[in-house]
Amino acid sequence: MAIKGTTQLLGVIGYPVEHSLSPLMHNAALAQMGADYAYLPFAIHPDALGAAIAGFAAIGLRGFNITIPHKQAIIPLLDEVSEVAQAIGAVNTVWRSENRWCGTNTDAAGFLAALKGLDRNWEALPALVLGSGGAARAVVAACHQLGCQQIWVAGRSPDKLASFVQSWLATPEITAKLSGLPWDQLPDYLPKAGLVINATPVGMHPHGDNSPLSEQEVGLMGEGAIAYDLIYTPRPTQFLRWAKAANLIAIDGLEMLVQQGAAALEIWLEQPVPVAVMRQALLDHLDL
Ligand code: NAP
Repeated sequence: MAIKGTTQLLGVIGYPVEHSLSPLMHNAALAQMGADYAYLPFAIHPDALGAAIAGFAAIGLRGFNITIPHKQAIIPLLDEVSEVAQAIGAVNTVWRSENRWCGTNTDAAGFLAALKGLDRNWEALPALVLGSGGAARAVVAACHQLGCQQIWVAGRSPDKLASFVQSWLATPEITAKLSGLPWDQLPDYLPKAGLVINATPVGMHPHGDNSPLSEQEVGLMGEGAIAYDLIYTPRPTQFLRWAKAANLIAIDGLEMLVQQGAAALEIWLEQPVPVAVMRQALLDHLDL
C-alpha cells in the first residue's frame, strides 16, 4: 500500500488497542480495492477522548471504529447517533458527514449475518443469551431485529442482571420481551430456547477447555437449536464442540467480527467491500 499526498485516514480507537484485529482486516480490504486509504490503530487514554475527536476532525479523518473502553463514552461527543446504537447504548463505528460526527453500531448486523442462511420461524423461538456485558447488548438488539418474541439473558450476578434489564427501559419494545435469568435456572430454559448465545469470555483462548455450559447442559438443548459462540479463538470452542456432537447447529464469532467490520467499511467508502478478503486476512492471521 503506497501512502501518497491524497491518502485518507481511517482507524480504530481503544485503550489498549494493540490486540485489535481491525487494522489487519481493513487494510487487506483497502489494498484489494486499490482504495487510497490507510487504517491505523490509535491508543487513546480515556482522559484524552474529547481532544482526540477534535483532532480527528481537524485532520479530516474519514471515520473510525471504537473498541473498549470508549464505546459508551463516545456517544455524547457525537452529533448524531443511529437508533440501533442508541438502543444498544454503544457505538462502534463513526464517520464524518458534512462536518458532523455520526455514529452507529454494526455489531448487531454482524451478529445477524451468520444467521441469514438459516430458515427459522424466529418469532416462535426464544433466544437465550449467556452473559450481560457489552456484547450481550448488541446480541439482544439483534435478537429483537430477528423477531424473537422472548429474549432471556442469563447472568451470574443478580445485581448486574437486574441493572442490565433495567437499562433497556427506554426501549419498551425490547423490555417487553426481555427477562433476566439466574444462572442456576438454565436447565429449565435450555430445552425451550431456539438460539443459545455465549456472550461471555468463557472458553476463550488460552482457556479453550472451559465452557459456559456443561456437556450435560448442552445436551438439554432441543432438536434443531442453534449454539452461537461470539468467541473466535479457539475455533470451535468447547461449547460448540459439544453442540456439534449433539447434532445442533454451531456458529462461531468469526463471521460476526468480519461482518461488523465490512459494514463499517461500507459506510466509510460508500461502496461494496471485499468481505472474503477481510475474512481470509483474519483466518491467515489466526492461523485457522
Ligand atoms: P464483557 O463486557 O466483559 O462481558 C462479559 C460478560 O460475561 C459479563 O456479563 C460477565 O459477567 C460474564 N461472565 C464472565 N465470566 C463468566 C463466568 N465464568 N460465568 C458466567 N458469566 C461470566 O465482555 P464483552 O465485550 O461483552 O465480550 C464477551 C465475549 O464476546 C468475549 O469473548 C469477546 O471476545 C466476544 N465478542 C466477540 C465479538 C465478535 O465480533 N465475534 C464482538 C464482541 C465481543 P460478570 O459481569 O458477572 O463478570
